[in-house]
Amino acid sequence: MSNNIQDKVVVITGASSGLGEATARHLASLGAKVVLAARRADRLGQIVAEIQAQGGQAIYQQVDVTDLAQMQALVAAAIQTFGRIDVLVNNAGLMSIAPMAALKVDEWDRMIDINVKGVLYGIAAALPEFQKQNSGHFINIASVAGIKVFSPGGTVYSGTKFAVRAISEGLRHEVGANIRTTTIEPGAVDSELKLGSSHEASANAVKDFYKIAIPASAVARAIAYAIEQPAEVDINEIVLRPTAQEF
Ligand code: NDP
Repeated sequence: MSNNIQDKVVVITGASSGLGEATARHLASLGAKVVLAARRADRLGQIVAEIQAQGGQAIYQQVDVTDLAQMQALVAAAIQTFGRIDVLVNNAGLMSIAPMAALKVDEWDRMIDINVKGVLYGIAAALPEFQKQNSGHFINIASVAGIKVFSPGGTVYSGTKFAVRAISEGLRHEVGANIRTTTIEPGAVDSELKLGSSHEASANAVKDFYKIAIPASAVARAIAYAIEQPAEVDINEIVLRPTAQEF
């Protein structure tokens, strides 16, 4: 097998479920060396064991993306085990839907910490290595809610995803000579994300909206497409949604 994914070292945050898990499994099946990160170490251990049982190369690290030191330790672990880091998939995220007037300030904080600061800490951890190597690839997971405001209810979530797109584009512009930056903007994808809302009416509306969700493997294939391009080709944005999705 020869592709532009084989032997690349790919670090994936939020790899204990949903898009991150599907991406880790798919890239490992294509020959990547994958480093799975999230807080639930038991889940990561199980997924890594399954990848290894199928002949894939994988390790995991328990990481909270809201902690810069832990993100730096994650990148260091990838380099220690596999010798380098080729791709960082900033995927960990939280979607807590509620009307602004419900004042779920704790959830606003958590979404900003995970969805925005988590991505920034990933950039801070990997960028020095990418610059040293003169190569590297950031893949940041935004959302269609980062293109259109998902209101009512998703206003703060949309704010975080608009921020991910802005940061990705600015990063590409600033460091793009040798370093690739891809933003993925999915619509409704089946995962645990839909369970992140404590506001009951909003949670029910989300559940209803997600009836048309597509499998996480669709996003994994989009990520593989961005990685497998030749080094001089930078796929900057991919928007994908269920065919049946209006928003
Ligand atoms: P899941 O809830 O299934 O996965 C979220 C992942 O993020 C989990 O692995 C979780 O692991 C991890 N995570 C959450 N908080 C932290 C943290 N503080 N530190 C480390 N890891 C954390 O949802 P998805 O797979 O759907 O979400 C992945 C990304 O895709 C998110 O950024 C989401 O916004 C985005 N997205 C999803 C869409 C969808 O419809 N599903 C649509 C558009 C974008 P753990 O709890 O073990 O830490």
